[in-house]
Amino acid sequence: MDIVTLDRIKLLHPRLRSEAMDIYEEICEALKGRAMCRFTHTLRTFKEQDELYAKGRTAPGSIVTKAKAGMSMHNYGMAIDIVLIVDTDGDGKYDRAVWDTKKDFDKDGKADWMEVVQVFKSYGWTWGGDWKFYDAPHFEKSFGYSVRELLNLKKKKKVDRDGYVSV
Ligand SMILES: [Zn+2]
Repeated sequence: MDIVTLDRIKLLHPRLRSEAMDIYEEICEALKGRAMCRFTHTLRTFKEQDELYAKGRTAPGSIVTKAKAGMSMHNYGMAIDIVLIVDTDGDGKYDRAVWDTKKDFDKDGKADWMEVVQVFKSYGWTWGGDWKFYDAPHFEKSFGYSVRELLNLKKKKKVDRDGYVSV
């Protein structure tokens, strides 16, 4: 298991934490250790979202998101971005990040990325790879709430003591 990922699971919305842990365990089993899955982003604060939105607009770089602060499920701890990490030389260290959705590292006839997608979907998560604004690393689950509804809850201070919206 990947320590970085475990830490990031703790930042998810409280209602999703234990489920995300189950998902992560299933993913680890499915990939058989050839490739590992890392959760690169879970919670993103409003401030971090604004900084990201500025990229390619008012800050250098190219545009990476269409979501302003409050308009991403990440801002409520209800989204996860993933990457595959691979031990290329077999020394036990996962030394390369891979966003290839077709690679079958464990050679079981199923692309590893799609195995991850399958696990998330089996828990009712939405995959960004199904969207027109294609976002293959992205998964989210919001219990039927839209980002606007969540933003409203946040504005009305309907949040727990850690700032997570009460849903
Ligand atoms: Zn995302």
